[in-house]
Amino acid sequence: MHAQDRKPQQHSFAYGDEEITFTLRRQPSRVVPRVAIHVEPDGRVHVDAPSTAPLAKVLAAVKKRSRWISQHVSAAKARLAHVLPREYVSGESLHYLGRRYRLKVVVEPEASVKAYMRGPFIIVAVPKHDTTTIRSALDDWYCQRAREVFAQRFLVIAGPLQWVQELPPVRLRFMQRQWGNCSPAGRITLNPWLVRAPRVAIDYVLLHEMCHLKHHNHSRAFYSTLDRHMPNWREIKEQLDERAAEYLR
Ligand SMILES: [Zn+2]
Repeated sequence: MHAQDRKPQQHSFAYGDEEITFTLRRQPSRVVPRVAIHVEPDGRVHVDAPSTAPLAKVLAAVKKRSRWISQHVSAAKARLAHVLPREYVSGESLHYLGRRYRLKVVVEPEASVKAYMRGPFIIVAVPKHDTTTIRSALDDWYCQRAREVFAQRFLVIAGPLQWVQELPPVRLRFMQRQWGNCSPAGRITLNPWLVRAPRVAIDYVLLHEMCHLKHHNHSRAFYSTLDRHMPNWREIKEQLDERAAEYLR
């Protein structure tokens, strides 16, 4: 075995919309008799495995526990999200459509302020490092993306809804603890931060609000309409709620 094989190695694999990344630490088999998975308080995942275990076997053992890992990682992140304010520095993680991106702040004295996405990065170009400027460029970017994504999804979701003849007026508003609402007059307000959530969660919120165009309450009739058009909405809502602290930050 080469010396470098003993260095901790990063591995990752897809689990639904997520990517699970873990550091593999090889241990003599007398120390660790089998694969052990730890989720650190900051959400990092460590896997200890005997140095003799083939990588494919280790990966299979970790993948088997994907659901458990994912739940513990989001719980750890949600706890952190409450205590750690955003700093708007490079490397900070940002979500868009349920995927994790990294913030990259590019300081160019001549640059005009702009935000854009490139590969795994959301890049904010600023003439100098200023938190307020970076934050507002990011907020604008999220609003722009939200407007575009929500408009596309409205068309798809409203299609089969017979009571929706034309798309309702929609406005965006940053909110602390609400994804959206529908006024008695049928005006829908959506939280731009919702664009951080996976598309299926966006669809659920849009459908929920459009069901309010038919039932202006949370009556049984409301839920049976919702059930008819999205039978698995409870599961989707549960996942969205689990991530709320992270997305609403
Ligand atoms: Zn409602």
